[in-house]
Amino acid sequence: MLSTMQDGPLSMAQLVRYGTTAHGDSKVTTWTGVGSRRMSYAELGRRAAQLAHALRGLGVTGDDRVATFMWNNTEHLEAYLAVPAMGAVLHTLNIRLFPDQVTYVANHAEDRVILVDASLLSLFGPILPTLTTVRHVVVVGRTGTGDQALPAPKGVRVHDYEELLAGQPERFDWPEPDERSAAAMCYTSGTTGNPKGVVYSHRSIWLHSMQICMTDGMALRQSDRALAIVPMFHAMSWGLPYAAMLVGASLIMPDRFLQPGPLAEIFAAERPTLAAAVPTIWQGLLLHLEAVVPPDRPSPLSTLREVMVGGSACPPALMRSYYERYGTHITHAWGMTETSPLGSIARPPVAASGHSEWEYRFSQGRLPAAVRGRLIGKDGTEVDWDGRTEGELEVRGPWITGAYYRDDDPEKFHDGWLRTGDIGTLSPDGFLRLTDRAKDVIKSGGEWISSVELENHVMTHPAVLEAAVIGIADERWSERPLVAVVPHEGQHVDAEELRQFVAARVAGWQVPENWTFVPEVPKTSVGKFDKKRLRALYADGQLDIVRIG
Ligand code: AMP
Repeated sequence: MLSTMQDGPLSMAQLVRYGTTAHGDSKVTTWTGVGSRRMSYAELGRRAAQLAHALRGLGVTGDDRVATFMWNNTEHLEAYLAVPAMGAVLHTLNIRLFPDQVTYVANHAEDRVILVDASLLSLFGPILPTLTTVRHVVVVGRTGTGDQALPAPKGVRVHDYEELLAGQPERFDWPEPDERSAAAMCYTSGTTGNPKGVVYSHRSIWLHSMQICMTDGMALRQSDRALAIVPMFHAMSWGLPYAAMLVGASLIMPDRFLQPGPLAEIFAAERPTLAAAVPTIWQGLLLHLEAVVPPDRPSPLSTLREVMVGGSACPPALMRSYYERYGTHITHAWGMTETSPLGSIARPPVAASGHSEWEYRFSQGRLPAAVRGRLIGKDGTEVDWDGRTEGELEVRGPWITGAYYRDDDPEKFHDGWLRTGDIGTLSPDGFLRLTDRAKDVIKSGGEWISSVELENHVMTHPAVLEAAVIGIADERWSERPLVAVVPHEGQHVDAEELRQFVAARVAGWQVPENWTFVPEVPKTSVGKFDKKRLRALYADGQLDIVRIG
């Protein structure tokens, strides 16, 4: 028997219509470095319509790709709304990739139009001649330095964003495409090999946005002022922009002001209720606040109901510090570009309190009902959800990718499941605890050592700012851990003290004997520890190793 229910498409058109009318009074705020500029969602809707008309005028039809090379700002949000709602495909380019990776990605996606922030022109200019499918570049914002005279290769026209929008109609007859068609695409940050394209559908964005807004998701709501620090090119800013349209949450965009000092100013001026970023951002902000805000001054974080963290494992010490100093919980979430990205979120069960509540918070959390997970053990069979047995996490669900865009990668898919490359356990009540990336786990004498667990222990030492652990070849054990330590400025700690500190916390055979002190841990294009570069530094003999024990 078929249901009697109607079947309305979950389209971006409806999301945009709804967000910009029902929530027309909500606002997007962009930080300018000295203050902020605000726009209502009603105005945003009118400008998105103008942008859509302008893009049609440039010949954008069907599923043409319109790319962005931009910071998080109002105009980027306009593109987020206009491009998918007009039926085209939004491609958010990662401005921090190496230039030849940007070239690869833009050519692979066959981007036709690229919107570029004027402040990024010096980065973008040298890349433009290598882009084979781009016909129009639209420069957003004025630099006042004559930068807009971007030399255009033959066949490419350069436009000014505001001039393009001026005079365009403020309404657009948004089409209703098949909800399963492409709406947006993002490439993985590609630490190994070329980045891979993930294409989100209208339907997957809708369902994922609903999950973000669920109480046990990010609980995004109308009264929120959400500070989206996570870039709009990093897994669609973790879904915040589209989810905001669903519930009318206001958005605060930091533009290019991502250093701890400017972020602290944004917090003080805009008083966000929610903020999302990778752990390294929160680490930097904490140090800054400790240094500049006297303990008797009101905290600039007092309006924050919570902080969302993901992208890499959040050190427990960091979570505790925010709670103890600012009363703010850092909520741990796990996800990937491939998973839209919300894959799990750490909301402790109601009955948990004290130590057990913290243990749940430190985990990567529960998978939502729509996302199925399983763990595949070393022998290729599924392991139990017993909270102890490790395996590689595989997931499937309506906002999990089932393939890469025009890129066969059978290794990453397994009978319709996405192989995440993340190793961990699942507890009987569905909590995921990741111990490592499959490629980072250290295989020592047939046993596995979690690099993340060692890092977390080292980072609880008061003299340590950052610590990253990689496996290095060892004749006897095949691999042993090497710890790269960044001490806090002005503090001294030696390898022996750290070794003893770790020895009190892990089994004897896991205690690292190889240590190195570095000024900074290299970071990836989205702010994670770049272990590939650390391994290269080691292989090139550029690290001074202290061997003890
Ligand atoms: P990306 O697609 O750049 O967001 O990278 C996804 C990868 O980041 C995942 O496969 C994990 O290895 C890692 N990751 C994301 N969130 C977490 C987390 N909360 N804890 C540990 N690793 C994480």
